[in-house]
Amino acid sequence: LKIKLVGSVGEPQLSQFATSFLIDDELAVDAGTLGFALPLPQQARIRDILVTHAHLDHVCSLPIMIDNVFDAEREPLRVHAHPETAKVLREHLFNDRIWPDLIRIGESDDVQPMLEFRPFEKERPFWVGGIQVTAIAVPHTVRCFSFLLEKDGAAALVVGDTGPTRRIWEIAAKTPGLSHVFVEASFPDEQADLAKLTKHLTPSTLQAEKAKVPGDVTFVAYHLKPRYAARVGEELEALGDPQIVVARSNEEYRIT
Ligand SMILES: [Zn+2]
Ligand SMILES: [Zn+2]
Repeated sequence: LKIKLVGSVGEPQLSQFATSFLIDDELAVDAGTLGFALPLPQQARIRDILVTHAHLDHVCSLPIMIDNVFDAEREPLRVHAHPETAKVLREHLFNDRIWPDLIRIGESDDVQPMLEFRPFEKERPFWVGGIQVTAIAVPHTVRCFSFLLEKDGAAALVVGDTGPTRRIWEIAAKTPGLSHVFVEASFPDEQADLAKLTKHLTPSTLQAEKAKVPGDVTFVAYHLKPRYAARVGEELEALGDPQIVVARSNEEYRIT
């Protein structure tokens, strides 16, 4: 498994304005930056997108990317989302006001559909290419999921925006071969109240979450709010845990 946090700009950096991960070239998690920052040929290779939740920093480049890669010969982009998330995206994004309702347009006989929603159920594994995906719910201010990705004995967990939680770590502890957890660290510890209110993590709460997973698992922190990224990076480093690292965007993690 190759996993890359797609940055908002081309250079490796700690902070991201929005979130996307590219997995093995043809799969992505979230579409915050795909349509803005990824070179066009790389956008065109993506066949499937897993959506953690409907917040704008995770979906804002989706309409743009669809526009960028559309080709009458191309099969529709498959957007895997919980039915509730898909409903929100249809009502509030692809609603013929913010952007054309591409689902309705695609239902017409003479137009090739550009995207299709593929609903998933929580904790029921499904396959995308050669990767087995399991969606696990996490607590956030809207319905939000994490994705367990398994391929050839390798496993990684891409955790959506979350506050402190439990279920996902029970599953992580039982997953053979799990080596990497990509997890958010949005705010510095001094903003703990804000993090609690908005259901995000800080370095201290991330450390407490990590303690729920036994064994040799590396936690890669991402979703550092740009305004606080340097501070959050320092606080994560000060934890002194070699298994907690900060994600640098546009660098590839090879999960074996
Ligand atoms: Zn969010
Ligand atoms: Zn977010």
